[in-house]
Amino acid sequence: MIERNGSESSSNKVSRLRSLTTKQALATLLAGLILSLIAGSIELIFDARKMRDEVQSQTLQMLKLVEATAAEAAFQLNPELAEQVVTGLYSSDTVSKVTLRDDFGRVMFSLGTDDQLDNAFYHYLFGNILSYRQILEYRVLANASGRIVGDLELTLSLQSLGQAFSERSLLIFVLSLLKTLGIVLLMVWVFAFLITRPLLRVYTALQTINLEEPGRWKRPYLKYNKGDELEHLVKGLDNLLNAFQKGLDQRDQLHTLSSIDALTGLANRRHFDARINQLWQEARKDKKPLALLFMDIDFFKPFNDNYGHAAGDECLQQVAKLLLTTVTRPDDLVARYGGEEFVCVLPDTDLQGAYQLACRLQENIKKLNLPHAYSQCSERITFSIGIAAEIPMDNEIAPDRLLLLADERLYMAKSAGRNQIILKENAVEAESV
Ligand code: GH3
Ligand code: MG
Ligand code: MG
Repeated sequence: MIERNGSESSSNKVSRLRSLTTKQALATLLAGLILSLIAGSIELIFDARKMRDEVQSQTLQMLKLVEATAAEAAFQLNPELAEQVVTGLYSSDTVSKVTLRDDFGRVMFSLGTDDQLDNAFYHYLFGNILSYRQILEYRVLANASGRIVGDLELTLSLQSLGQAFSERSLLIFVLSLLKTLGIVLLMVWVFAFLITRPLLRVYTALQTINLEEPGRWKRPYLKYNKGDELEHLVKGLDNLLNAFQKGLDQRDQLHTLSSIDALTGLANRRHFDARINQLWQEARKDKKPLALLFMDIDFFKPFNDNYGHAAGDECLQQVAKLLLTTVTRPDDLVARYGGEEFVCVLPDTDLQGAYQLACRLQENIKKLNLPHAYSQCSERITFSIGIAAEIPMDNEIAPDRLLLLADERLYMAKSAGRNQIILKENAVEAESV
């Protein structure tokens, strides 16, 4: 039984790759990655917009800061001041070209070149926020109307904007991935804790069930699954296995009932028939003798008729008890063959061995001293015994011969005056009473 379970459990062993935990972790990871990709892309679109707004407002702010000085430089036609303004603006990483012109459109100072980067995606994102032109007005008084004195032209570097965007995108994706991994780990743990682990416990408990005793299975204790489907599943399994167990117990009870004699508790004739056949086959295989004692209580009818049926029953019970306490080898079988007839099957026992046991039985029944005033051979209960022992031959397939021989010898014991043991056709052993 244990071996069967063992081999089954090895063939049923779940490989790590196919385990529920692995599948669930992989599925969650895949779902998480897809979600993080989608979420990252959406975040990226919003971030691109935000970045465009930031760049625009920062550039306009820069131009606003230098507007007055640039107007001063254009008004005074001051090249040093113009250079200062242009250099200051050009020092920003995102600027690729700055030009300051006077009101005739002549370049006062210019730095940088037009960006040569040819990237359609970056053009799509930032193409329309690259160029800025600030008209420069000069006011003599703060509240007077201004006079146009030149203009300031600024071009942003597509390359540096693109690079900044790429770096931000990478950061967004990495952060989104880390967030997702964190969520995935949390989900794997929660699922494993609430579902996979308790399920594996149920699975292990089922694997270790002894099929002979399914109801005695080690019901898994699911601490964190109170009232949920898993607890109901375990309850359902428990009920099912208990129902199985009940069926098996009833089967065993019926089997016991059908093989036990109700009055004496000895094996009954049905059980004896099955057992002697089995022992006969074993003796034939091992080439060992098998012995049989056939016993019958002497003058039991007058005992019954005079002391009453209840006393007769009690007498049978006492005799049965005596047989059980005298025939003690574990493989020997004592059975009630019928009425007041008993049999003993003795494996690996020859005629002499069986005879010794028969003598002991007669001694013990004598010691038991059950009064029988109506026996014609003694003042107490006695029995007659017929013995047969054989080593079964290969061509003999049934133990009937042994039974027949023992029965014949019992009959001879009766004919010879009862309270006798007969082990051979020509040998009569009389017990003096
Ligand atoms: P013998 O010495 O030749 O064996 O004579 P006997 O009277 O013992 O033999 P017989 O077979 O004529 O009688 C057997 C009696 O055993 C018949 C019946 O009254 C009694 N008997 C059989 N079964 C039971 C039982 O279960 N309970 C009781 N009380 N008596 C039984
Ligand atoms: Mg009889
Ligand atoms: Mg009898």
